[in-house]
Amino acid sequence: MTAQLLDGRELARQLQEEIQAEVAAFVRQVGVTPGLAAVLVGDDPASQVYVRNKQKACERVGIASWLHRLPSTVTTDELLQLVARLNTDDGVHGILVQLPLPPQVDTLRVLDAVTPLKDVDGFHPENVGLLVQGRPRFVPCTPLGIQRLLERHGVDTAGRAAVVVGRSDTVGKPMALLLAARGRGGDATVTICHSRTPDLGAVTRTADILIVAIGQAHCVTAEMVKPGAVVVDVGINRTDSGLVGDVDFAGVREVASLITPVPGGVGPLTVTMLLANTLTAARISQN
Ligand code: NDP
Repeated sequence: MTAQLLDGRELARQLQEEIQAEVAAFVRQVGVTPGLAAVLVGDDPASQVYVRNKQKACERVGIASWLHRLPSTVTTDELLQLVARLNTDDGVHGILVQLPLPPQVDTLRVLDAVTPLKDVDGFHPENVGLLVQGRPRFVPCTPLGIQRLLERHGVDTAGRAAVVVGRSDTVGKPMALLLAARGRGGDATVTICHSRTPDLGAVTRTADILIVAIGQAHCVTAEMVKPGAVVVDVGINRTDSGLVGDVDFAGVREVASLITPVPGGVGPLTVTMLLANTLTAARISQN
């Protein structure tokens, strides 16, 4: 069996068209343009690419965006001051602090300072709490994008065995919560694995739906995958042969039924969900 591709680029294009229409309708109705402020610290090349992609996507769908660049020597207090300004700026509906921040900065303090009503990354404890309770406001963009990708490809999660490899606050944990939540896109029986899981393959082989978010090139191989499984590869690893995922794509493609490519799988949807969350934030600002 050769797996079909879960094409994130094509779905992102469709969803961005839908968001563009919704943004235009919102602007017509309330006379306000949704706006996203991005905070970029230092000159990490990957972070610069991510922020540029997010800004370009904003432009495509009619969302205003502003980039606040700060040197890598910035202090926690300086960042807190900027976040405080953005929190009270009525033109800014969403605030994105691009991670990682330099080691001298208290990342949690900065993320916690973003007002929960503008927290389009969904990292604030209040938004995490709402997600845990099954009444989400802002869901972290990567897991939300994966949920959309599965839904649009007709992958029924209800009652299926889902395994999430990775337990980060940004990807693994919220992904597991979404899959275990009641209702559409959820209702799965979820297992979370991490670096202390002794026999990873024994667990991943139980998965009907396997989500891998660990950050190690080609870590999940064909023999770790149940035949016919749906495999979502979140990993982005820079190697001598270019960008690769956490899954050994060539091998696993022969075992899985559906699989995301890297690049062109999860990444474009992460950006797209940021746009969706910014529009949600703009709507919330009108309530
Ligand atoms: P983190 O480094 O925050 O978390 C990695 C997780 O993987 C940890 O829970 C860790 O376990 C676990 N892990 C590491 N090695 C293994 C292993 N050998 N076996 C099992 N579990 C392991 O990473 P992120 O969640 O932020 O990102 C994961 C990957 O996804 C990265 O490559 C990142 O670049 C990519 N990414 C892609 C996005 C996209 O849009 N496509 C968006 C966000 C991230 P432990 O907790 O025990 O340390």
